[in-house]
Amino acid sequence: MSEQSNRKIYKYGRGSRPCRRCGSYGSIIRSYGLNLCRQCFREVAVKLGFKKYS
Ligand SMILES: [Zn+2]
Repeated sequence: MSEQSNRKIYKYGRGSRPCRRCGSYGSIIRSYGLNLCRQCFREVAVKLGFKKYS
């Protein structure tokens, strides 16, 4: 296997799933089956009742 396609396929981790809210790949929080990026998670988490720890 010397040739690789340009598109990387991630089974797990980064790029495995896009954010279902904004469609961006990156740090996706899959906990609780959310499949949301960090930004969307912050917004959604507030609605879901998660408290922010700062
Ligand atoms: Zn998002």
